[in-house]
Amino acid sequence: MAVQQEMAVVYPPDAEELCEFLPETDCGKCGASSCVEFAEAVLSKQYPPEKCQELDGKFREVLSAIVDLPKDPIPYDLMMEQTPCELIEINGSNGPGPLLVTCNFKETVRILREILEQTRTSAFLLPTFTHGYSVDNAVHERMFKAVEIWKAIKENHVEDRLARPSLVIPGLAESERNAIKQLTRWDVSVGPLSGFLIPLFVLTQD
Ligand code: SF4
Repeated sequence: MAVQQEMAVVYPPDAEELCEFLPETDCGKCGASSCVEFAEAVLSKQYPPEKCQELDGKFREVLSAIVDLPKDPIPYDLMMEQTPCELIEINGSNGPGPLLVTCNFKETVRILREILEQTRTSAFLLPTFTHGYSVDNAVHERMFKAVEIWKAIKENHVEDRLARPSLVIPGLAESERNAIKQLTRWDVSVGPLSGFLIPLFVLTQD
C-alpha cells in the first residue's frame, strides 16, 4: 500500500489579505459585490484582474502572474534543508532594494525567488540562519533572530547595496519586529503573511 507523504503549506494568498491591496471601495463595477468578493474570484481564476478598472496596468500584470504561480505544498522530506545565507539580487537593480529578509530553509528561498522572478520584481533577498526552519517554525522555536539578521547583513556588506538602511521581514515574523529594529537600528517593515503577495507589497511601497 502506498504511503501518503505529509506536506507543509506554503501560505497561498487569501482573499482578505489580497483585498488590502485593492481600492476597497466596494464600488461593484467589476461585477462583484465587494472588493473581497472580487479578490476571491481572481484567486480562483473566475475573474481576470482586468475586471477592476481601478487597478493600474502594472498592478494587474503582477496580480495575474501571482495567480498563475504554482502553490504546491512542500513534501516533508525536504524540510530543514538549508541554503547559504548569501545575498541574492533578483531581476537586476532597477534602483536600490528593497531588502527582503527570510529564513535559510532552501524551499522557502526557492519559492520566494520564483515569485519575485515570475512577477519581475526587483529586490534583494537575504536568507538568514534559522537552522533550516521555515519562517513560521523559526518564529515558534525562537530561531528567527535579530542577531542572525544583523550577522547576515554585515557578512554580505548589504549597506553598500542599499540607498538607506531598511529591511522587510515576513508577515509571519511580525512579533520579532521590535527586537530586530532595536538591534539593527534600521527601518523594519512587516511584509504580507503570504509570500505570494510580496510583489504587490513592493509595488505599493514605491
Ligand atoms: S471594481 Fe475594483 S474597486 Fe470596485 S468592487 Fe470591484 S475590485 Fe473593488
